[in-house]
Amino acid sequence: MKNYYSILGVTPDSTDAEIKSAYRRLARKFHPDVNPNGSEIFKDILQAYETLSDPKKKLQYDTINGFFKTSKTQEKQHTSSKQAQTEYKKQSSSEPKSKAEFSKKINDIFEEFSKPKTKKQKLSPKNGEDIYEEISIPLKDSVNGTERIINVMHSTQCPRCKGRKFINGTKCPLCNGTGEENQHRKITVKIPKNVKNGTKLRLTGEGNYGTNGGKNGDLYIKIKIEPNSRMNFDGNNVIYNVPITPFEAVLGGSISVPAFEGSLSLKIPSKTHSGQKFRLAGQGLKQNGKVGDLIVVVHIEIPCSLSDDEIRLYEKLKKMSSQNIRENLLNE
Ligand SMILES: [Zn+2]
Repeated sequence: MKNYYSILGVTPDSTDAEIKSAYRRLARKFHPDVNPNGSEIFKDILQAYETLSDPKKKLQYDTINGFFKTSKTQEKQHTSSKQAQTEYKKQSSSEPKSKAEFSKKINDIFEEFSKPKTKKQKLSPKNGEDIYEEISIPLKDSVNGTERIINVMHSTQCPRCKGRKFINGTKCPLCNGTGEENQHRKITVKIPKNVKNGTKLRLTGEGNYGTNGGKNGDLYIKIKIEPNSRMNFDGNNVIYNVPITPFEAVLGGSISVPAFEGSLSLKIPSKTHSGQKFRLAGQGLKQNGKVGDLIVVVHIEIPCSLSDDEIRLYEKLKKMSSQNIRENLLNE
């Protein structure tokens, strides 16, 4: 026997509407006018639908082949199975008798898909809703700018009824009369250089579909900058461990640090010690209506690559240095 349920991709528990919608979906795919190789498959689909859409035929088919609903209806089907079996024997085959009949049946169905539109319903335009998404990017990308491809679920015009909701006076079966269809769409988002944490990018018209001539909504993308491994959080305060070179520590000067609010310039005084803290008020995290501070903790670090010349200069410094930095250790 042919499993009509698996042919249509439904289950014995599926509702009539689900069966109908599965059938229509498949019919659109395998109709011989669309798919020249689909004739045999379509024949099966048609047969399956003719049986499962007719309550009497469906009951007989279920009874003979042992398909039962998992719901309460099971008991009822059991009791009527005898009668159904008798009826099944009497009933003639529902298969199309000739190629011509088969052709006619499929043409009837196809006609329904391509029937011209009915009179336009005048409805007031409704703008589509905006969609909000969030993208997390590493600090590095927030400084250099980047691109992300995101998958956005949004509504679009129903391809079947073209948003008209009804086809020949009946509810569009694809969108169930909403005129919309939900779709995943891949959208490439360009994130500009030096973007700040919490920046909202707006992509006009990329939101939900506007009905009856209304405008599409917009897509808003909130940028969340991920902290790097040198950052720690204390509430809204950001503790940022920043390296400085030995000569920056000695001479002082202005250093640039990438942060959540773009690149920051920080002045460090001469003779700055490792571990010294600099508080930049209001440059921390902005959340729950409060703004934290950015606390830069500088650490003297030796650059990985030092040229021979640099080494020679350090040797010179070593010879010139007169103070023993550890002489007071015993007194501390
Ligand atoms: Zn529709």
